[in-house]
Amino acid sequence: MARTGHKKAGRKNEPANEGRKYRLYPTDEADVVMTGWGHTRRAVRNLALEQRQHAWCYGRKTLRADAQSRELTKARAEIDWIRDLPAQAGQQVLRQIDAAYDNWWNPAHLAGAPRFEKRSGTLRFSLPGQAVAVRRLNRKWGEVRLPKLGWQRFRMSRPIGGTICNATFTKKAGTWHVSFGVATKREAALPNGRPGCGVDFGVACSAYLSDEDAPRLMPPSLTKGENQRLLGLERRKARQIAYAKKHHHGRCSKRLRRTVAQIAKLKARQARRRLDFTHKLTTDLAKNHGYVGTEDLQVKNLTASARGTVEDPGKHVAAKAGLNRSVLDHTPGERRRELDYKCPWYGSWHEPVPAPGTSQTCPTCHMRDPKSRPGCGRAFACVHCGYQAHADKVASQEIERRAEARIVVRALVIAGGHPVNSTGRRKPSPGRKARGTSVNHPQDPGPAVPDAA
Ligand SMILES: [Zn+2]
Repeated sequence: MARTGHKKAGRKNEPANEGRKYRLYPTDEADVVMTGWGHTRRAVRNLALEQRQHAWCYGRKTLRADAQSRELTKARAEIDWIRDLPAQAGQQVLRQIDAAYDNWWNPAHLAGAPRFEKRSGTLRFSLPGQAVAVRRLNRKWGEVRLPKLGWQRFRMSRPIGGTICNATFTKKAGTWHVSFGVATKREAALPNGRPGCGVDFGVACSAYLSDEDAPRLMPPSLTKGENQRLLGLERRKARQIAYAKKHHHGRCSKRLRRTVAQIAKLKARQARRRLDFTHKLTTDLAKNHGYVGTEDLQVKNLTASARGTVEDPGKHVAAKAGLNRSVLDHTPGERRRELDYKCPWYGSWHEPVPAPGTSQTCPTCHMRDPKSRPGCGRAFACVHCGYQAHADKVASQEIERRAEARIVVRALVIAGGHPVNSTGRRKPSPGRKARGTSVNHPQDPGPAVPDAA
């Protein structure tokens, strides 16, 4: 299917709602040119940002993209290396800074102030949809046409399935990727009618589902050999930095650069494996459950450093750092983000619930007691009824119970007594009166209801 990005009709009205990322294999010449564009884009961006900060500090004036784009046009006429960058890529940068400021000023948005980009960061440049064209070569390969460079091949691992609104080219650890912002018009699916589940994300057990008897384990993100190689490279890097400081006034040697590149390559592979597992896990969760309950964790607080301050240094700093690394290795924030957008696609619902006490609450007698978790192990033994299970399994069951209670309460509030909700669960039959208690006492969800099959 030869599809181009030239369709202008309707493009403005449809914002991109999905992303498609492919591995790009540019020719050697194109690689050199695109790397140069990446550096130019960064320079233009940092310059534009500095100009905005300066205009505000000294003139209380807010510069926006339209004012700066006129100056960019002038700069292009005078400076060769800026002229090299396609004009649309330059305009795109200024619009991105606009968006960065808008997000910063938006109190509902998490973003902080726009920052300068480092030379060592990911190289990137963006083009609007009408500046690129895409065509499919065969089952596996596609081509994207860039201004000045022509057609470059990419591994078409999935169909694009929509109108291309923009394209971003990134180079990280020596590898190029192209991401298309695509308007797919995909809408939320009807409730899929499946039973819900609770999931406890952990470190030892990557994910424990309330309706499964064994945890889902993430395969190690690096093999034993790769870990050893990484350790060796990190040591070599430290040695080379020490040597450079002693003999070359800290100037990087070519060998040091090569070591850094090799480390980056390994880390990028690790990140890809993590992301692969996360995507497969969240897709499976969203596709096969009416709702997905998770713990509403503040990842930032959870993985805060134990370092403390100079006056009051913390304890077990290295141990906490190691734990934080393990937690972050399981990408908790990313899982949550993916569930948020994937669940509506598959007629499911993502329900984060308060986390405290989930692994201390018994799923059979519903008594919360810290004594039910003796020691620091993963064993749960209820001191009230004697129920024994894996603590993460217990937590996932409690999460499911809390999620269901919240959904039922909300549905009753919205529908005025009729639990017609987006969870796909049946309306409670007369035999399932137990839910009534949860409506009167939202804080105490009441006994668990067995899953509707
Ligand atoms: Zn119990």
